Amino acid sequence: MYDSNNIFAKILRGEIPAFKVFEDERTLAFMDVMPQSEGHTLVIPKTDARNFFDIDPDALASLIKATQHVAKAVQQAFQPDGMRIIQFNEPAAGQTVFHIHFHIVPCYEGRTLKGHARDMADKAVLAEHAERIKRALAR
Ligand code: 5GP
Repeated sequence: MYDSNNIFAKILRGEIPAFKVFEDERTLAFMDVMPQSEGHTLVIPKTDARNFFDIDPDALASLIKATQHVAKAVQQAFQPDGMRIIQFNEPAAGQTVFHIHFHIVPCYEGRTLKGHARDMADKAVLAEHAERIKRALAR
């Protein structure tokens, strides 16, 4: 069921780069390369799990705690008017990377969210956004 060739497993193994914002022994958070809004961040567990159904409940608990921790920093860094915390299971629900993750998607009044996994962002912009979140986490 779990395929370790997925892109997030490769990020965890350091085989491909990511703009990381937070890491502890159980979780990693980094910028989404095709963000739906400014500050779109992903949080993943270090354990192999495809989705909400096969993840160990303790790992899920750590993942949601890390998601709240990072979302608070995104809130501070970007001051959005609202925020979506989203998690998709299987292609029918919109999942495209099969390593469980939570999306942190800041929402801004008057700005429409971009399409899901559609437009690649500028790398310099992603790097700057990651720095903003890291600075908020360090406060
Ligand atoms: P899903 O559709 O599985 O819920 O979300 C996968 C997310 O991963 C999408 O929002 C997509 O933009 C993002 N994504 C896809 N490939 C990469 C990548 O190589 N690096 C990063 N940081 N994000 C990716």
